[in-house]
Amino acid sequence: MAEGEVTVTTNLHTDIRYIKGIGEARAKSLAKLGITDLQSLISYFPRAWEDRSEIRTIDGLTIGESACVQAMVAAAPVVSHIRKGMDLLKVKVVDNTAALFLTFFNQTYLKNALIPGESYVFFGKAEGTLLRKQMVNPLFEKEGAGQITGRIMPVYPLTAGITQSVLHRAVRQGLDACEEILPDVLPDEIRIKYKLCHIGFAYENIHFPESFEALAIARRRLTFEELFLLCSGLQLLRRRRTVLSGPACRHIAMAPFYEALPFSLTGAQRRAIDAATEDMCGTRPMNRLCQGDVGSGKTMVAAACIYFAVKNGYQAAMMAPTELLAQQHYRSLAPLLEGLGVRCAQLTGSLRAKEKKHIHEQLATGELDFVVGTQALIAKDVAFSSLGLVIADEQHRFGVAQRSALSAKAENPHILVMSATPIPRTLALIIYGDLDVSVIDELPPGRQKVDTFFVPNSYHSRVFQFIRKHVAQGRQVYIVCPLVGGDNLLPNEKKAVTDYTAKLSTEIFPDLRIACVHGKMKAAEKEAVMAAFSAGETDILVSTTVVEVGVDVPNATIMVVENAEQFGLSQLHQLRGRVGRGVHKSYCILFSDAPGEDTKKRLRVMTETNDGFKIAQEDLELRGPGDFFGHRQHGLPDLKVADLHCDIELMHQARLAADNMLRADPELTHPEHQLLAQKIRQLFETTGDGLN
Ligand code: ADP
Ligand code: MG
Repeated sequence: MAEGEVTVTTNLHTDIRYIKGIGEARAKSLAKLGITDLQSLISYFPRAWEDRSEIRTIDGLTIGESACVQAMVAAAPVVSHIRKGMDLLKVKVVDNTAALFLTFFNQTYLKNALIPGESYVFFGKAEGTLLRKQMVNPLFEKEGAGQITGRIMPVYPLTAGITQSVLHRAVRQGLDACEEILPDVLPDEIRIKYKLCHIGFAYENIHFPESFEALAIARRRLTFEELFLLCSGLQLLRRRRTVLSGPACRHIAMAPFYEALPFSLTGAQRRAIDAATEDMCGTRPMNRLCQGDVGSGKTMVAAACIYFAVKNGYQAAMMAPTELLAQQHYRSLAPLLEGLGVRCAQLTGSLRAKEKKHIHEQLATGELDFVVGTQALIAKDVAFSSLGLVIADEQHRFGVAQRSALSAKAENPHILVMSATPIPRTLALIIYGDLDVSVIDELPPGRQKVDTFFVPNSYHSRVFQFIRKHVAQGRQVYIVCPLVGGDNLLPNEKKAVTDYTAKLSTEIFPDLRIACVHGKMKAAEKEAVMAAFSAGETDILVSTTVVEVGVDVPNATIMVVENAEQFGLSQLHQLRGRVGRGVHKSYCILFSDAPGEDTKKRLRVMTETNDGFKIAQEDLELRGPGDFFGHRQHGLPDLKVADLHCDIELMHQARLAADNMLRADPELTHPEHQLLAQKIRQLFETTGDGLN
């Protein structure tokens, strides 16, 4: 078959090369955008739309603005050769208000496409002067064609070798070829109930909207569909758990645990513990997220659950994202738990092979009740005799896959995930759709607020004196910089950690003990530096954001953040949470010279509140959820049209629709749900959740 013909046997999986104008080279480029067949082509949605619907007169063009004009070619185009690789084609066009001078660079082939006396519609940016208006490289088509002018046009994300026009033509052909064969994922009943348009209308108008109203209707339908698939998938995951049975526990007296604590737990901690133990006594495995601000005491909730599981005859394992955090947990948990008869060990990468082997043996025989460790825990040779509870700390550092690898070491163990990333409730509901959530919204009593200051760089000498005074009193200090030194230094004053450390230790604090730590260091090096700081052997720790998560050094009382505008609010809040953990008054100092009211407003939020949830809400509103969650940290499928922040209302509707449908057809076996079931599986393939 000749390239360029869309055959009668077209289906959604027809290769992209059958589209006219798409050969080998372009097919390769398109593949980089994920476009390989008709389905992926028409599902490649625009990132924006350009309004070319209004046709102006030449007289009515505003210099600097893009618009369409309808005009007649006044004289034959003139080609001039400027130099090698640079040809110009000039042509004058007129309407009954004025003349417009067009210039095309290196497109001499257009000479024969612009025929004197014929009318065309041109689209481009008006340049020149009021008396002599020009357009450079305008797009054009025959008057009345209505393909690329006189309408709203899509703007796609591009890649090398692919232009907007290539995509416009390809998508147009793709839509035409699929018109008759597009299957509707949404059951009719749901489509009608929620007043959603047909699939064909949606695809046509998300790409080439007839009007902005039509675009809104199309977008609403596609957003609903996406959220509906997401909710259904999450619901299925949740339901799947209901048919499993977890390690069965019975309620036991927790008094010995509570009495062993040096303090009494907060109400929020008690509620989280009660919810978790209740889960573990239920018929299905626990899958709970325990979410609490930094310092809210999540570790004690974990400790209570470990105690509960072990006293029920099971083993418990806790996974931390770094070796340092694993050690820290071991230090705070082991003395407490050992005193209650729980046999504890830590399993980290830096143990000697012999020690590791010994722990492996004890886990396999059941001589150990509780192990805390890093990724080392999911190594193949680690086996448990009766693993009943898995705890993952700071879950956003773990992929879903790692969590499930650990759970795979037992038959459906109970899972408790702990996170300090405060997520507004509405979003938590969506993102952790398959988890139950406990929120620890209360800090232990007597916590002092960390005084936060936002100052310009001219305050450095004052701040250095302040640091000196506190170090003289025996305290420790963190200084966080946004960049690591080396080749890719940005050409401004952003301080690279390494350079800055050198400067501090030679010029500013030659008499103090300064160390630095950053993400480019080897894990062991990093751990050694952090351990020294933790042991009080270092006065000032200069770092990138590696100290962000969970490090607990109660003697550290000052957190300095350089170029604070480079960080998100939630990240700054995490950083600030590293101080104010002991008995001493603590401070957070944010340096920034960045101009702009927005930046100032953002940083001022930090000086006004210590409430992580408030800060998260603010961050979300200022930056949107994409940035908020970072790159796919949430482990959800990628969403193409839905915006988790803006589409909350639609989300609720989609969730309701999914619940209702699954109540009627729990395993999606009805014939009208076949396609839906298949789509859901596809959507979740990328997350490793394996809804198969
Ligand atoms: P996070 O939620 O950030 O993980 P941690 O569990 O590390 O917080 O607790 C922070 C500190 O607060 C620890 O030193 C811990 O011993 C202490 N702590 C926890 N719960 C209480 C409580 N109810 N009363 C007093 N101190 C507590
Ligand atoms: Mg913690």
